[in-house]
Amino acid sequence: MTAVNVGIPGVRSEAATGISDRPDTPDLLDRFGRIARDLRVSITEKCSLRCTYCMPEEGLPPIPREQLLTAAEIVRLVAIAVHRLGIREVRFTGGEPLMRRDLEDIIAGCSHAAPGIPLAMTTNAVGLAHRAQALADAGLTRINISLDSVSREQFAQLTRRDQLASVLDGIRAAKAAGLTPVKVNAVLMPQTLDGAADLLAWCLDEGVELRFIEQMPLDADHEWARSRMVSAEQLLTVLSARFRLTETDREDQSAPAERWAVNDGPATVGIIASVTRSFCSDCDRTRLTSEGTVRACLFSDQETDLRTAIRGGANDEELVALWRGTMWNKWAGHRITKADFTPPQRSMGAIGG
Ligand code: SF4
Repeated sequence: MTAVNVGIPGVRSEAATGISDRPDTPDLLDRFGRIARDLRVSITEKCSLRCTYCMPEEGLPPIPREQLLTAAEIVRLVAIAVHRLGIREVRFTGGEPLMRRDLEDIIAGCSHAAPGIPLAMTTNAVGLAHRAQALADAGLTRINISLDSVSREQFAQLTRRDQLASVLDGIRAAKAAGLTPVKVNAVLMPQTLDGAADLLAWCLDEGVELRFIEQMPLDADHEWARSRMVSAEQLLTVLSARFRLTETDREDQSAPAERWAVNDGPATVGIIASVTRSFCSDCDRTRLTSEGTVRACLFSDQETDLRTAIRGGANDEELVALWRGTMWNKWAGHRITKADFTPPQRSMGAIGG
């Protein structure tokens, strides 16, 4: 992460507003000296699974089609982010990005508008086997796949869908299409702790990198509880019973995963301790929701509506100013461990992971 010293205390909990004190700099700088280089673009609220920690059983309320950004609007905003605001990596999320039929068009448009910028996607991989090559041909460069268990029964219970075979096919197709390194993300939950070593063994066999992520309070049902959360320490104890783990150095401080070499390497396993070892002070993310609002932090409900501005005829300069102002007022961090923490109104599926 690139940081700038703006001479402001590093701890701040309340939301600040206003931009009159913002230095005149093109980058997406915030009050704490962080600069956003990583853009997350959610393109739909729809999903093919119903993971219990993310979505309600009936799915999220559908967003009327006319309220979603079109492929052309997404491409325009990505081009602005890259050419005017210093973004260096773009990741497409949802919901589930594969639910959009024009995903290949979006990727191809962004690849053309921002050549050389890594274009990544986070997906559940259901149906990916049929589209991985076309996505790679369109310009997708990397992929993260969400998979919490390699037990068919447990997968079906967690996701409320019997789709494990499709996900495993999707992972293999992503590798075959050259979308490497393929990374598998698993949410740490009490139900899956016993199967964590099996999941790691499967990923080692397949040659894909596994990262476990501490569960955050972003579930639509608001059932997350700190007391039920599995910590990174508990996971390490479980994995160490079957594998020899050696902590490796973290090359990039803004990369959220801490990594351990497995059985002396070169394979590694990562842990993203989003709650117990928060990395907010190094956060370099900015988010665009599927409805075209900019969101500075996952946990802040303050959003700026770029879609209305675009459809009202805003020029690039006006959009740039709105985006910069939103990021200037980014919160210091999520405060999950604080007594007065309240979860954001939108769930992960609605914001984009
Ligand atoms: S909680 Fe907010 S500040 Fe912390 S890492 Fe996530 S987006 Fe960044």
